[in-house]
Amino acid sequence: DQLSSQEIFALEDKYGCRNYSPVPVALCRGEGVFVWDVEGKKYYDFLSAYSAVNQGHCHPRIIAALKQQAEKLTLVSRAFYSDQLGNYEKFMTDLLGFDRLLPMNTGVEGGESACKIARKWGYDVKKIPEGQAKIIFAEGNFWGRTMSAVSSSSDPSCYKGFGPYMPGFQLIPYNDTDALEKELQDPNVAAFMVEPIQGEAGVVIPDDGYLRKVRQLCTKYNVLWIADEVQTGLGRTGKLLAVDHEGVKPDILILGKALSGGVLPVSAVLASNSVMNVITPGTHGSTYGGNPLACAVATEAIKVLLEEKLCENAEKLGKVLVEELNKIPKNKITTVRGRGLMCAIVIHDSISAYDVCLRLRDAGLLTKTTHGQTIRLAPPLVITEQQIREGANIIRTVLESY
Ligand code: PLP
Repeated sequence: DQLSSQEIFALEDKYGCRNYSPVPVALCRGEGVFVWDVEGKKYYDFLSAYSAVNQGHCHPRIIAALKQQAEKLTLVSRAFYSDQLGNYEKFMTDLLGFDRLLPMNTGVEGGESACKIARKWGYDVKKIPEGQAKIIFAEGNFWGRTMSAVSSSSDPSCYKGFGPYMPGFQLIPYNDTDALEKELQDPNVAAFMVEPIQGEAGVVIPDDGYLRKVRQLCTKYNVLWIADEVQTGLGRTGKLLAVDHEGVKPDILILGKALSGGVLPVSAVLASNSVMNVITPGTHGSTYGGNPLACAVATEAIKVLLEEKLCENAEKLGKVLVEELNKIPKNKITTVRGRGLMCAIVIHDSISAYDVCLRLRDAGLLTKTTHGQTIRLAPPLVITEQQIREGANIIRTVLESY
C-alpha cells in the first residue's frame, strides 16, 4: 500500500541520518519535466536533482538501455574486461577531445581522483619534492562531502567539526586571476581546481574572459587546470561544456550527474596521455567504476543529449526564462542570473526564500534555496518554450502573493 506524504516524512525523520532538510514533498513518479507526489499531485521539477536529470525524468531511451544491459551483465569489476567499457571510453574521449577517461561513480569521487592524478603528476612530471604538492581551489567551491572536499571548502557548514584537514590545499577568491597568478608562482603548485560557474554557491558566474585567463596562467606556470563540470557540464549552460563558452580546454575535466541522465551514479575524469598515464595499475580504482551497466546508460544518456539537441534548447530557453524572470519587480526578486538553463533568482530580504519554495510547491513547481536568499532554477533541458513560460508564470504569481 502507498504511504502518505506525512508517513514518508515521519519514516525518514525517525530512521534516517538527518543530513538533509528536504522540501516537504514525497515523490513517487517522474516523466520528462514533471514529477508526481504520492497523493497524485503533479509538479514541474525546476531542480533536476541538482542538474543530474538534464535529459528529463525516466527518459525512455536511457531506461531502455538500462533494462537491456541489466538483463545481460551489470558488474564485472575491473579485475576483468567487459564488452562495454572500451566502447564507452572511446565514445567519450572522441566527443570531448581527450586521450583517456577514468570511470568513477559519484561527482566527489571524480574530484578526489582528479586531485590524486594532479598530485602524482606534480611529483612524476613537474618534479615537485615528495610530499610538497599543492592544489589551489576557489572560495565558494563545492565539490562534495568527502574529507578532501570539505578540506578545500570555505563554508563552515561543510568543514566545521570535521578536522583535521587534508594538507596541501590552498584557497583563493573566485574570479580573481591576480590572486591566482600570485599563488601559481610557487613551484610546488600542481593544480588549480575550479567550477566554470559555481553551482552550490548560488550560480555564481565569473567575468567574461576568466576561464581564458585561467587557461593562460596555468599553461604559463606549468600547473594543471582541473575544470569541475559535474554540475555545469553536459548541456546545462547551453553548451556541451561550460568551458566551451570561452573556447578553452582544461587539462583535467570532471563530469558526473547528467552523465547518466539521473539514472545511476556515473562520473568520469578525462585527461591527456601525459597526465592520465601517471596512474598505473594498482594505484587507483573503484569496484563499480566503469561497470557495464553504467557504460551502457551513460553512452545512451550522452547520445540523447546530442541527438535531441538539448544544449541548443538550454541556450534558447534559458534566455526566455531570464527575460520572463526579469519582468518580476525588484522588490520581490533583486537579481536574476543564468547561463543556459542554469539559473538563479535572489529573493528580496523582506521575503523568506524558503517560504517561497513552499508556496512554489503548493503552486506546482519544485525547487530549493542554495545559499541564503538564492533559489536555483534548473529544469530538465527537455523542457519546451510553453512549459518554460508556464513555469515562469507560476514563479511570478507566487511572488505577487507577497
Ligand atoms: N562538483 C560539483 C560542481 C557539484 O555541484 C557537485 C554536487 O553538487 C559535486 C561535485 C559532487 O557530486 P556528488 O554529489 O555526485 O558527489
